[in-house]
Amino acid sequence: MEVFFYSVIGLAVLYGLILFGIVWKTQKKCECTHCRTAMHLERTNRPLYVRRFYDYLPLKFFRCRRCQRTFYLHKDTPDSEPESMKETAPKPKASYT
Ligand SMILES: [Zn+2]
Repeated sequence: MEVFFYSVIGLAVLYGLILFGIVWKTQKKCECTHCRTAMHLERTNRPLYVRRFYDYLPLKFFRCRRCQRTFYLHKDTPDSEPESMKETAPKPKASYT
């Protein structure tokens, strides 16, 4: 019974730590913190573990094409997806997970 108790505590701590890591990577601005650019960012799918365990977080996932760093933005934070792309290729927003 004790083993069960400690594994539940362990999992809860792990879950909290990963959640903290995600919040830590969430930015207020759509900008790469490493190369200070807002030009080379692309929206991409969230990692599988985020989709599975943290799906309730209202986050968008971005990757910098220059340095490959990733970060999150709150759903309501405006991003800098180019206007021209929106006109020529109207991608349904729901396709991003
Ligand atoms: Zn970058």
